[in-house]
Amino acid sequence: MADNQKMWGELGMNLELHDQLCAVLPGAVGDVFMSQENRPEKMDFFDMVLADVHGIRPAELIEFKKNGGKVFGTFCAYVPDEVIFAAGGIATGLCAGSQFWVPGGERYLPANTCPLIKAMLGARFDRTCPFYRTADMYIGENTCDGKKKAYEILGTDVPLHIMDLPQMKRDVDREKWAYEIKELIKVVEKETGNKVTEENLAQWIKNVNAKRTALKRLYDLRKSAKAPISGTDTLLVSQIAYYDDPQRFTQMTNILCDELEQRVADGVDVAPGAKRILVSGTPMAIPNWKMHNIIETSGGVVVCEETCTGTRYFENNVDESGKTMDEMIQNIANRYMGINCACFTPNEGRFDDVIRLAKEYNVDGVIDIHLKFCQTYDIEGYTLAQRLEQAGIKMLSIETDYTDNDASQIKTRVEAFIETLE
Ligand code: SF4
Ligand code: SF4
Repeated sequence: MADNQKMWGELGMNLELHDQLCAVLPGAVGDVFMSQENRPEKMDFFDMVLADVHGIRPAELIEFKKNGGKVFGTFCAYVPDEVIFAAGGIATGLCAGSQFWVPGGERYLPANTCPLIKAMLGARFDRTCPFYRTADMYIGENTCDGKKKAYEILGTDVPLHIMDLPQMKRDVDREKWAYEIKELIKVVEKETGNKVTEENLAQWIKNVNAKRTALKRLYDLRKSAKAPISGTDTLLVSQIAYYDDPQRFTQMTNILCDELEQRVADGVDVAPGAKRILVSGTPMAIPNWKMHNIIETSGGVVVCEETCTGTRYFENNVDESGKTMDEMIQNIANRYMGINCACFTPNEGRFDDVIRLAKEYNVDGVIDIHLKFCQTYDIEGYTLAQRLEQAGIKMLSIETDYTDNDASQIKTRVEAFIETLE
């Protein structure tokens, strides 16, 4: 801890304010994770990462930088990590899942902005997150309007490159995204001083595919009739996926899956009698465990997330058959353009995904959750409800933020919804 304090001080963090954040985290972790029964033993790695979330990984990143390495902070499932790692850099997700950072963000943004965006600015400008301090450059993306405009403010304090994400999925848009990836390659090459070679890119396409494959394996195990792991624990794994070392993460996730395979064979059930719930909607950045905690203490078990901290992050690998740089870049572009975010129009693919996942995971109901002031997911909720009704799948829609103000009211609604499920 003393070493961490020294490291945080050297990063220019606001230590007094950061101490306040550190004071609330252990209680929250105890309430949400340690209170669960029959957890897989191999969650111990992810618990350890969480327990020292501002210590272990930031220290590794700083060591990497001491040896000349460059760290790139990212915010969105569309930013292709393959390219950054292939340039010898490290990509790390910059989470924005805590209410702690929201008031700081409100000094720069209208109060009626999504909490994820407010937390993003609060974490940077309050100087209370070592990841935000360690990254040499941020890679933003034109997705929703709130993020797009917030990046303009963020960019006054840190070097920021914006990828212009098309918002339709025609061939011309896939080509445009390939162009944006080429531009990103130029940016990371300049920042790192390293060339992205065909060999390195091919290798990192394989490495990131392996990480996605491990996550898919984890999710496939949740299709079992008896849940071998809670949704809350799986959410933690998905959140850590954004910032841990990708190869270590792959290895540790596969070790967890080995245990879960045995659990499935042994008929272990972490939530006997609970209703199987698919969560869809906006991402749940660490440490946002609010809705999973409510659902799993209200008679439900979350067996799948159609979110960017869920299936949107890992479904579909990059085609590994590309030989030339252009082929590899186009294959990367095609894979990422397969993500169905509500920023796109039309976005029929997302409705199809939710229905497909509801069937694959044999769920009893869907809970569609969006953060307050997130227009795109809020508006899509209307069509999603229609599609699910046509498919005979029950859905509950929840709008919430990072505070606990609405927690008991939401719990009442979730309990009532779960009671209606057969
Ligand atoms: S919801 Fe959309 S904008 Fe947000 S992280 Fe996912 S892909 Fe990016
Ligand atoms: S949750 Fe919605 S409003 Fe917030 S950053 Fe994501 S897409 Fe934008």
